[in-house]
Amino acid sequence: MSEIFKNVFSKTPDNDLLQHGFSAYGALKIIYKELEADGLTSHDLGSYTTIEMLPEADFLIHQSMGVNMVNQHEYHKATGIHENMVKTIARFLHAPNIDQVFGSSTTGSSESIFLAILAAKWEWKKKNNQGKPNIVFCSNAHLCWYKFSRYLDVEIREVPLEVYNEYPLEHVLKNIDHNTISVVAILGSTSLGTCDPINILNERLEKINKDNNWDVGIHIDAAIGGFVVPFLDASDYGMWDFECSLVRSINLSGHKFGLVYPGLGWLLFRDKRYFHSELNIKSSYLCGVSDSFTVNFSRSFSLVLAQYFNFLHYGFGGYRKIIEQCMANTKFLTQLLTRHGVFEVLSDGKIPVVVFKFKEPIQVDINKFTQLLREKKWMLPYYKLSGKMDITVMRIVVRNDMKEFFLVQLVNDLFECYATLVIDGKPIS
Ligand SMILES: *Cc1c(COP(=O)(O)O)cnc(C)c1O
Repeated sequence: MSEIFKNVFSKTPDNDLLQHGFSAYGALKIIYKELEADGLTSHDLGSYTTIEMLPEADFLIHQSMGVNMVNQHEYHKATGIHENMVKTIARFLHAPNIDQVFGSSTTGSSESIFLAILAAKWEWKKKNNQGKPNIVFCSNAHLCWYKFSRYLDVEIREVPLEVYNEYPLEHVLKNIDHNTISVVAILGSTSLGTCDPINILNERLEKINKDNNWDVGIHIDAAIGGFVVPFLDASDYGMWDFECSLVRSINLSGHKFGLVYPGLGWLLFRDKRYFHSELNIKSSYLCGVSDSFTVNFSRSFSLVLAQYFNFLHYGFGGYRKIIEQCMANTKFLTQLLTRHGVFEVLSDGKIPVVVFKFKEPIQVDINKFTQLLREKKWMLPYYKLSGKMDITVMRIVVRNDMKEFFLVQLVNDLFECYATLVIDGKPIS
């Protein structure tokens, strides 16, 4: 911390709003002091969100913080940029007809997913008003699928994963019926980084739709993979985006591998008709008439413009270079981790994340292990895999900010903490 912040207040204010506030400088000092004990974002190993952008992007964000997206009439240039960005994304997601695509930025994939479920439910309602709508996804789905399906009163048909690296295709298909509003497939699961076999799912569902005269579509949760897979060799992943006939909507997190700070997601529909026009509310409170269909009314333009900056500055080639580097570092980290027969890596290297566990028959108190790491400032999440698997794993997301020397230092500390626990009398084998 800088010299000028050394002279901090000994007492931090309680939660009452002060009668007379501190000076701006004083308030700043207090906040710095209060946050001192918080973790370092760079050492938050399990987080997918972006922690640093280029100084030019920081400047742009600062300059545009106060521009409210909702005022489309006054900020028509920025609104035009936003519309164009939806098309840019639609292009690298292979939308067959760019002019038919409908989409928007959101505050994150969660909001995108809320809107995707809402839209699919309205689409179902249009065709079907008997029975209860249901949605089909596997147990590796992100928490927000459970949350918003419940909020929107859609029956959840969760298909449990029995094995971590096996997609239960037949079981998924069996759960689909004429009241299914959407089948959700994941490109880069949060807990394991695995990608569902979307192309095969699409093929099978085409046939099922035809045989039963149904019209069930697929939504792709590409929160993580949406800004990863398009920049890598397509043959390693198979068709997964709008190239698949039944993929109707896709969400992406701009603030994950889109390389923008937390607070930005995207949602795209292959065709306007999948987002019922009644969900688009016209507002006339501001100058002119604006379209409103996202959850929040007011939102700053700054992160959208930061994403635009990345598009302009990196371009396709720049994104590819960065993502390829993350993938190379993922491989590097996997090699380092598996060197001494202590850890076993479960993730398949399709997404820049390494999910691992202690190799059998090693028994280590994983809570103690991560606490030791925390003393060295590393924040390493651990969790039990969902579904029918009784496996506890740890996760390191190989973000753009993690360079090779950083990974070497991290792995050294992992082994050091492990050794400490073994010396403490924990059995190794
Ligand atoms: C992160 C994530 C989400 C939630 O997205 P936010 O951008 O954090 O709102 C949804 N699905 C998957 C697969 C994710 O990894």
